This record gives sequence, structure tokens and C-alpha cells, in this order.
Amino acid sequence: MSDTEWQRVRYDNPADGVGRITLARPEMANAQDYLMLSELNEAFDRAVNDTEVRVIVLAADGKHFSSGHDLRSDVDINDLPTIGTQCHFDAPGAEGYMAREAEMYVNLCWRWRNISKPTIASVQGKVIAGGLMLVWPMDLIVCSEDATFSDPVVAFGVNAVEYFVHPFEVGARLAKDMLFTGRSITAQEAKQAGMVSRVVPRDELESETVALAAHIAKRPMFGLTTAKQSVNNAQDAMGLYTALQSAFGLHHVGHSHNRLVFDGSFVDPSGIQVIRDEA
Ligand code: ZN
Repeated sequence: MSDTEWQRVRYDNPADGVGRITLARPEMANAQDYLMLSELNEAFDRAVNDTEVRVIVLAADGKHFSSGHDLRSDVDINDLPTIGTQCHFDAPGAEGYMAREAEMYVNLCWRWRNISKPTIASVQGKVIAGGLMLVWPMDLIVCSEDATFSDPVVAFGVNAVEYFVHPFEVGARLAKDMLFTGRSITAQEAKQAGMVSRVVPRDELESETVALAAHIAKRPMFGLTTAKQSVNNAQDAMGLYTALQSAFGLHHVGHSHNRLVFDGSFVDPSGIQVIRDEA
């Protein structure tokens, strides 16, 4: 698909050597349905394959970076190209749903995390649950002072969002705090925890991100690629991938438990009210 056909993302080149992908569903606070994730994956591929691009920026239109997954969308996963080896998305029991979440969430995030070029997230406003799954796979994170980050899904009777890297991103203590309480952490807290690279005023977010990307893009591609791989390899040696897969298994124990207890619902329905009351 060409970018002119994309409905949920845009692509441009804001500076020499920089490719920028922008989430373009601000009327829904950039809620992610399968179509957005599929288009996002195509846009990353376009940036990776463009030999002029050395650094990729992921930005978002509107007030909020992303409110998470759009579970009401009727886009059918079977109509989209898959990137992994998952199959049988309509299988009953745990099988089909686990395959869907492995394909559209874990596998895509993992693929983006390992893109061979440096990636920078440019973040404003709220980043909720699945929103973290677009921010965390990026190499650097520039955010505005108003940015907040939360994973409130424990209220739904599951452990966390599907891409479980929380302890690596904010440390074990703050990860538990975020998960147990469902609270948002501020940009400054995220910076203090080492999760965020730069915090800038809202009206300077775009210019600061592009300037950082352009600065990095002056360096040779292979140096950047191998530097990135070396840091990623270090995280993997610390067990990131094993922890991620282990948590994904527990996540699906949670979904299966909820289906048994709550009349087929993947989540504890009372979680919606708990989250609303605290918002
Ligand atoms: Zn899930």
C-alpha cells in the first residue's frame, strides 16, 4: 500500500536523513486498531528501505500521543498482511485470541524495537496502556512537559499490557507502583527513571525532536546500526525477551481466567469503572 492510501498514519521527511511517521487519528486520541498497527508497520518498512533515511521519528497528531488499543474497531485481522508465523486467528478457546495478540502486539513491537535504524518517539499528552507499546520500542523518547504515561489494565484483571518491558523501562519499583495503582507517571518522573531522553516545552516538541534526529543522522549508518544492536543485545543478555514472553503467557492466563469467570469477556468488566473513577 502506498502512503496516499494510508488512513491512520502519515509519512514525510522533515530534515535531511530523517523519515517521520505520524499517527493521524487525533479525533480518536490515536487509539490503535489493527489497521493503524498494520499501516504503521508498512510505514516503518518504507523508512527502513529508504536509503536516504538514517533516523526514524514516530510522532502523533493532536493533544494526546495515544489512548491505547481500539477494541471496538471492526477491522478484521484476516484482511491484513501478517508479519509473523502466527495463524488460526479465529480458533476457539485461548488459541485464536493469543495468536492475534502475539501477531498484532508482541511481534510488531518486537520487530519495531529491532529496526536497523535509530528511532525516536516524539510524545505529547496522554500515553495510556497500548500507547506505551508504541513509545517503548523506540530507541529515544522526547516528550513534552505535559506528557503522562500509564498502564492501568491491572483493573481489568490482567498483569499489564502485552509488550511487557516495564521493569526495563522504569525499574522494578516504579513498574510495580504503576501497575498496582494504575496511576500516570509524569514526564519528569519518566525522565528521572531513565525512560525518557529529553523533556521539552510543548511548543518545542517538534523542532527539538527533528533537531535531535538530524544531529544523529549526520553519523554513518553502520555505526548507528551496530551501536543500536549492541545496546539491544545487552538488554537481551539481561533477559528482556525471556521476561517479555513469560509475561505474555501470564497475560493470556489472565484473559482465559476472565473468560471463564466473566461470561466470556476477555477482561474484568468492572475495571472500566475503576479506571474512570480515578481518571
Ligand atoms: Zn491482551
